[in-house]
Amino acid sequence: MIKITLPDGAVKEAEKGTTPFSIAQSISEGLARNVISAKFNDTTVETTTPLTEDGRLTLYTWNDDEGKKAFWHSTSHVVAQALEELYPGIKLTIGPAIENGFYYDVDFGDETISEKDFPKIEKKALEIARGKHDYTMRSVSKADALSYYKEQGNEYKVELIENLDDGTITFCDHSTFTDLCRGGHIPNTGIIKAIKLLSVAGAYWRGDEKNTQLTRVYGISFPKQKELTEYLQLLEEAKKRDHRKLGKELELFTFSQKVGQGLPLWLPNGAALRERLEQFLKKAQKKAGYEMVVTPHIGQKELYVTSGHYAKYGEDSFQPIHTPKEDEEFLLKPMNCPHHCEIYNSQPFSYKDLPKRYAEFGTVYRYEQSGELHGLTRVRGFTQDDAHIFCTTEQLNDEFKNVIDLTLYVLNSLGFEDFTAQVSVRDLENPDKYIGNTDDWEKAEQAIIDAAEEKGLNYVVESGEAAFYGPKLDFMIKDALGRNWQLGTIQVDYNLPKRFDLTYKGSDNELHRPVMIHRAPFGSMERFVALLLEHTGGNFPLWLIPTQAIVLPVSEKHEKYAEKVLNSLENHEIRALIDNRNETVGKKIREAELKKIPFMIIVGEQEEASASLSVRRHGGEDLGSLSVDTFSDLVTTEINSTLKSF
Ligand SMILES: [Zn+2]
Ligand SMILES: [Zn+2]
Repeated sequence: MIKITLPDGAVKEAEKGTTPFSIAQSISEGLARNVISAKFNDTTVETTTPLTEDGRLTLYTWNDDEGKKAFWHSTSHVVAQALEELYPGIKLTIGPAIENGFYYDVDFGDETISEKDFPKIEKKALEIARGKHDYTMRSVSKADALSYYKEQGNEYKVELIENLDDGTITFCDHSTFTDLCRGGHIPNTGIIKAIKLLSVAGAYWRGDEKNTQLTRVYGISFPKQKELTEYLQLLEEAKKRDHRKLGKELELFTFSQKVGQGLPLWLPNGAALRERLEQFLKKAQKKAGYEMVVTPHIGQKELYVTSGHYAKYGEDSFQPIHTPKEDEEFLLKPMNCPHHCEIYNSQPFSYKDLPKRYAEFGTVYRYEQSGELHGLTRVRGFTQDDAHIFCTTEQLNDEFKNVIDLTLYVLNSLGFEDFTAQVSVRDLENPDKYIGNTDDWEKAEQAIIDAAEEKGLNYVVESGEAAFYGPKLDFMIKDALGRNWQLGTIQVDYNLPKRFDLTYKGSDNELHRPVMIHRAPFGSMERFVALLLEHTGGNFPLWLIPTQAIVLPVSEKHEKYAEKVLNSLENHEIRALIDNRNETVGKKIREAELKKIPFMIIVGEQEEASASLSVRRHGGEDLGSLSVDTFSDLVTTEINSTLKSF
């Protein structure tokens, strides 16, 4: 008999050779029906894999990420089989699951495929799936595996196998199809009820541009047709909310090939939006005791050698700038932290001066391959809402609570309601991985957990996820489309204070080392604006949006009155524009709608006679005829409902 420990700590005794499926059956019939994948002692196994020793077992269904991964990877085998049947002679390479779905990289030889071919491939793949073929794993000797693929003339699989050790090689069979595979499949193909190919793209073999370019076929699959329909609707909505599309429509930012890839150019509307976000955070930070600092965009190479960033970014990022004389070397700043350490170092501090909180909207530069660039979310230059707090270990808990308060204030004011927190701590089984002393680590981890607890955060503790230099807390935000974004990291750091020899004088008159906290509630202005665009679909909260109202005179005759209205709106601190082009009011409304301006103020004969405004809300709601005062109250009430004071 062997002992199988389940995630809840329950221990099942079972015959040696039992399978995850049998264990599921012994728990409940329902679980047995739904279990599609399993993990045994940190290794992904099949639900039919015989278990021959004591160990920990986790069972997965479609509702688990690991379950989806097995489902999607298994579908990639089916799609590969369909491709092989439709395009004989193609060479298959690899087909992993990804965050949403799977891909398969294929060498199609002289053949090319496009979206037009998707329906017939999907049809074929579904036909295969309906055959309810079991996925069966078998061990193969290296020699047999090599000869199998050499016979097929598939040099890619041969290369993969050559890098594997004899005795570790497995093939997966289903129907008439065989593939080199480590495992991690659902029980049979019949569970796959809906398959959709999403796109094709070029991809170099092993990601190396010196190699052959393959065709990457992306797809996704579901256990119910209805789930595919919902997913496709979500994709449609995501397309509408794509920040690159909205950024263009709202004239927020642009890119220029002349300026360079991955370097966003902020247009006046975008700059106004950024400015408002910065002012909002600066105001709250001031109340929270931060001091603004300013540092240059470059720093001596030695600075980053000291900080360790050169080792991390030096080789793979922008290369040093050389001066014409004196042979100095500078790097574009990849991080603001070293600069802030040197600000701390510029004067002596005693324990009474701490904490010091230095904040900066600091622009940093990191090289990203052009293929990796994506709108505002992957760029080569971006501005962090950065701050570094230097404090004593005893102050960590309070500082953490303050940063959590600030982050929650930011999230609430911007309409993010669905979020969780993750506290990342050490892996106690590998203490050598971490710098700093155990006592400090214990205190810091406890300080973070206590802070999360005291602030009532919905949090999980992940052991082994801490950086080598300190524990941290991350916020995981769910946007309006249910996608997860990591935001607002609060990171404890024992490393930089040591590398920069930062000290303060304690009450004992001795020098001590401060702890450093890195934090950025927005992360970067670029990524945050992208997230905000996709979350709100461009309908920013009223307090944030640069133009809150637009005055639309019905005809030239009413321009004077329109100007008067604009003036009084401005006196009420409403940010408004006027559209007095010689266009119909219908056209002006349509354009204001596209620009997502929250209020359209229409003024004509009637309004002028009664000294009032006709107000239309973005989206079409008619608020009727209002006085400027009533309208202003309405705007203030709405702003106060989302933007509380910090
Ligand atoms: Zn596989
Ligand atoms: Zn930092």
